[in-house]
Amino acid sequence: MEEKESLWMLNADDTSLEQDSPKSLTEFQGVFPNEDSCRTYLYRARFPTGFACPYCGWTGMPYGFRNQPDMLRCRGCRRNTRLTSGTIMEKSKLPLYTWFWGAFLVTSLTPGMSALQFQKMLGIRRYETAFNMLHKLRAAMVRPERDPIGGEWPVEVDETYVGGETQGEGRGRHHKTLVGGIVEVRPRKKAPGADPNLPSGQRPRHGGGHGRGFIAGRLRLQIIPNRKQETLEPFVLANVRTGTEVRTDGWTGYDNLHKLDYTHIAVPVKGDHAKTDQHLPMIHIVFGNLDAWLLGTHHGVSPKHLQAYLNEFVFRFNRRFWPMVAFDSVLKIAARVDAPTYAGLYKGTWGHPGEWDG
Ligand SMILES: [Zn+2]
Repeated sequence: MEEKESLWMLNADDTSLEQDSPKSLTEFQGVFPNEDSCRTYLYRARFPTGFACPYCGWTGMPYGFRNQPDMLRCRGCRRNTRLTSGTIMEKSKLPLYTWFWGAFLVTSLTPGMSALQFQKMLGIRRYETAFNMLHKLRAAMVRPERDPIGGEWPVEVDETYVGGETQGEGRGRHHKTLVGGIVEVRPRKKAPGADPNLPSGQRPRHGGGHGRGFIAGRLRLQIIPNRKQETLEPFVLANVRTGTEVRTDGWTGYDNLHKLDYTHIAVPVKGDHAKTDQHLPMIHIVFGNLDAWLLGTHHGVSPKHLQAYLNEFVFRFNRRFWPMVAFDSVLKIAARVDAPTYAGLYKGTWGHPGEWDG
């Protein structure tokens, strides 16, 4: 193999990639126009302070190979390191470019494409390849986030039924699954700037008339077996820091939250939708979006797989202001050194899929 410094590596000191996250497909295309730009990004993400050999610790510009651009050879010990090792792209025959586009599509706020659409958009020849790729990217989004939320911000807690209607069984909630939701209410002034998912730096609009200077912070969603106190209390305890102000409706299942070291604010709404929306605006918007996503995109989801979809929804929701953090995360690229600190949002302790175990 011919050893030489390849062109894309020489460009790795180029600081043009330090710009803000791409805010649209067009911008994304501008930042990642070709395979070299993807390699440069990967190189900078893996070696933010320059190449360091994982075997001998030698630092400097490694050798590159024209016919194997993924390979870096240490000039000290001459051992090889793959640029993609440890990432989701390792051992894949697809171009990095295709993976980058796939990751951008699944982490952007308008997700929900079928494997067939995905295949067409990315120009992948075989359906199975597109299917597997989409599956791998989405698998990175279904790990639940476990660190408790709330603290200095109040949270809204409520439950909702999700699932498809069943015909021929009369009115009512047949085969629906109960989901508990908790969302932080944060003052807008602490919001992290313009929403990158909206054109031209528009401010995020959460809740329309309910917004009034607040935005939704972190979210948790979990399937719960029922609305009993012995279910709802462990649900809140597992997800919300003690001492937090917890807002609920007047349901009796929440009656004793104040005894669990929470500041409990309950408003009896008795099925009055207007009142409920006024008291718990954020979580109801979340429930509405969730419903639309499950029905519109996935045409309903069986209870067996619902928690994985809830986790994916939460993953994207919690990173909606920083799509590039989500992007790195699904590609399993090492953590960004410049990742925003948002109360431990990104160093969440990953666990097993969040099935109910209360
Ligand atoms: Zn070495």
